[in-house]
Amino acid sequence: MAAYTGTGDADTTGEEPDGAPIRVPDGGARRDEAVRAAVEQGLVGPATPIIGLLDITGIRASAAALRAAFDTVVAPGTPVLHAFAVKATPLVPVLRLLHREGIGAEVASPGELALARAAGVPPARTVLDSPAKTPAELREALALGIAVNADNPQELDRIDGLVRSASTRSPLGIRVNPQVGGGSISALSTATATSKFGVALRDEGAREWVVRAYLDRPWLTRLHAHSGSQGMPLELMARGVAETYGIAEEINERAGRRQIDTLDIGGGLPVNFGSDTETPTHAEYARLLAATVPGLFDGRYGLVTEFGRSLLAKHGVVLARVEYAKSAGGRAIAVTHAGVQVAARTVYAPVSWPLRVAAYDTKGRPKTGPDVVQDVAGPACFAGDLLAEGRSMPLLEQGDYAAALDTGAYYFAHHYTYNSLARPGIYGFGPDGAGGVRFAVVRTPQTLDEIVAESGGAHAGALTDTF
Ligand SMILES: *Cc1c(COP(=O)(O)O)cnc(C)c1O
Repeated sequence: MAAYTGTGDADTTGEEPDGAPIRVPDGGARRDEAVRAAVEQGLVGPATPIIGLLDITGIRASAAALRAAFDTVVAPGTPVLHAFAVKATPLVPVLRLLHREGIGAEVASPGELALARAAGVPPARTVLDSPAKTPAELREALALGIAVNADNPQELDRIDGLVRSASTRSPLGIRVNPQVGGGSISALSTATATSKFGVALRDEGAREWVVRAYLDRPWLTRLHAHSGSQGMPLELMARGVAETYGIAEEINERAGRRQIDTLDIGGGLPVNFGSDTETPTHAEYARLLAATVPGLFDGRYGLVTEFGRSLLAKHGVVLARVEYAKSAGGRAIAVTHAGVQVAARTVYAPVSWPLRVAAYDTKGRPKTGPDVVQDVAGPACFAGDLLAEGRSMPLLEQGDYAAALDTGAYYFAHHYTYNSLARPGIYGFGPDGAGGVRFAVVRTPQTLDEIVAESGGAHAGALTDTF
């Protein structure tokens, strides 16, 4: 892939003069301007007490930095496909934006594939990876020419049948689990001994089964592993990639040809939820991979990556109005409109998923003043619905705004239907060309009619009339 030559933010292209890789500029100042503008323009307010915001400048910068990171380490001419993991931010306009920035799509369900297609991501830039693909999904993917990674022997049997009955352009591979161990969040760790994903390479006989599977099927040309996740040390991720590379080398040697021509190294780069700084960067990971697995980038293998959280997390904000400020047992409590419906992971697993919360005043200006220990509560009717518990920050008062930061991936686009709380509207923001901020609708807020319809409204009498 050619070096990135976009004309965008100079901060994010190529390298700094001293050869240091580019960092994505912190989004804090842009966020403050956007919050102020959202309040001034009435996007959020008493009648619309919660919205999601996406920083278009930041998303573009991250996409460019990802491309530059790998362009710097791969041999010239190496085919590289960065496929955004759609599950991280399943929003069609986001997928279209990323596509325009040279990023494809990794999909793991019929819904995600439909979103990628609606965004205009072509099959050749799409990868299908789910662990539970039905025969119909596999048939569709092969008919479209989408890359598919088989998760297990039974799935490979199904693909065998499809390949026998019709020709396909789909690049096909097998997903392996290098079993290098998990990170600090067990529910997210994909490379433990008993992870549900892929063929567990260290299990008895598994490695030989994988090698034979390739030798018996000349059309298997890819190998896939996704062993990273939030809470996973980079060194362990790199070791997972090294194991995957090792088995590809073994297969190609035994095949006596370069049968595996592309390695899909997955995503899973952790995100720093503690500050506006992007760390680790894609460039740091790419350099670590180049040092750990030099053969991976020497031009013999095409490369697919599947980053999700690391591309989008830092570019999203949930902005919610403080409806009431109260106190209980000496604890200040801000009752806001952002809780479990937009931050399910944080509310149910606060230790693993702490979020920064920024305080803005009634006009959308950053709040100052002494730190006060307080709870930032959501609107749902259970006691644990807290965005932050016992947090020291400027006191939130009625009519202020609480902003949950770093929520661009796996948060407000992952609505949780508790208390029939409506999905908030989502808006992208960027410069308006005149020193201000312009917004674009990414997703309209869910209406009450839609809530009723999606909750069986058309079947109101189903249980009383039928029985
Ligand atoms: C979830 C997932 C990703 C993306 O993971 P992030 O942690 O968001 O980067 C990539 N590939 C596969 C197969 C996944 O399941």
